[in-house]
Amino acid sequence: MKVWVERALCQGSELCIEASGAVFATDDAYVSFVKLADEGAPAASADHAVVVPDEHQDGVRVAAQDCPAQCIRIVE
Ligand code: SF4
Repeated sequence: MKVWVERALCQGSELCIEASGAVFATDDAYVSFVKLADEGAPAASADHAVVVPDEHQDGVRVAAQDCPAQCIRIVE
């Protein structure tokens, strides 16, 4: 599984962090990014999709389902 956040659509609800705080974080503007990316660099597009370790995949699926902006993208 790979995941990224379409950051332009993010509403800053931080529900993704509740679902998987190991994978997601928000920046100073409350825009989510995949913190598993290199040193916290925002994963903003499919070009920056991040491989999700097995132990975090269920949480990422929950985050994608619960995201009110539907801006968490998953490739299985
Ligand atoms: S749940 Fe969705 S809208 Fe809310 S902070 Fe996370 S990515 Fe953004």
